[in-house]
Amino acid sequence: MGEENPTSGFYTVDDFKTVKKYDTHIHINVEDTTFIQLANEDNFRFLTVNVNTSDYPHIEDQRSIALSLIIAYPDRLAFATTFTVKNWGKDEWQTQTLDYLKESFEKGAIAVKIWKNIGMELKDKNGKFVMIDDPRFDPILDFIERNNVTLIGHFGEPLNAWLPVEQMTIAGDKKYFSENPQYHIYLHPEDPSYNDQINARNNMLKKHPNLRFVGAHLGSLEWDVDELAKCLDKFPNMAVDMAARITHLQFQSVKNPKKVRAFLIKYQDRIIYATDHGVAPTSNLVVLKKSVHDSMVSDWRFFATNDEMNVSHFDKTFKGLKLPREVIDKIYRKNAEKWFPGI
Ligand SMILES: [Zn+2]
Repeated sequence: MGEENPTSGFYTVDDFKTVKKYDTHIHINVEDTTFIQLANEDNFRFLTVNVNTSDYPHIEDQRSIALSLIIAYPDRLAFATTFTVKNWGKDEWQTQTLDYLKESFEKGAIAVKIWKNIGMELKDKNGKFVMIDDPRFDPILDFIERNNVTLIGHFGEPLNAWLPVEQMTIAGDKKYFSENPQYHIYLHPEDPSYNDQINARNNMLKKHPNLRFVGAHLGSLEWDVDELAKCLDKFPNMAVDMAARITHLQFQSVKNPKKVRAFLIKYQDRIIYATDHGVAPTSNLVVLKKSVHDSMVSDWRFFATNDEMNVSHFDKTFKGLKLPREVIDKIYRKNAEKWFPGI
């Protein structure tokens, strides 16, 4: 693992459309074919991820949207289901959740997403935050594992969420946390700390070593590839998706491109291309399609070439990583197929 083969060669920007690729983290929340068109034109398969958030349609509606698109375009789309915690604390919650997951698996869900509302929103009857290592989740996680389904976990937030806006590294984080102060934990010092979130996730993984786990958003360790490496070393059944965090790798590449490149080569079996793009009822579809395409080409350029680049998230220039072809093939295709059986 991890040795660079100098004869493997490199892709160019022009190879973007010809190489078969996956994006394992998008959100299609309306019955619309923009992403299907993108998949056809740019040679992608997508995993649309249902999320238990009040910002999205009801989870059953998200599932119906995914299913109707999958029936029409089975070669372009797969879906990840989720579950509600509305009845948390009631006796029936566990049975209802297992029933919903069973039904989702029968309908073809290949993954389950658990979102940051666990750890950051849900409270028990004593007003304490419910964390993902709460024993009441164990039967649910066991059921996911028994069905050979992958768990996608988004726990906590980028480290920037614990900083004042002016100290955040990335423009996207400055914008998101200014617009969503409820998740800007710097403003809520009484809430669980960054380490509390990471520790709860790690405790959950220790209890479920055979659960196949994909940490969304670089496993919330986006700020330092060394920290992410330590975590991947500790949990061999964990991979990470890069959704909405590629710019954090670019930010680290300003100072230390060799370190970021070496990390991606060493952990080439554990990193999955993903973007977090999505389509909502309010999206302008023409603008959306172009901007998603352009940003995906920019990501490709970062991984495949050594071009000088700029992105809108910070001021500094950085260079592409020019990863070997075989590493790109894993990040964009083979790892998705390995970590999401059935995708
Ligand atoms: Zn997402």
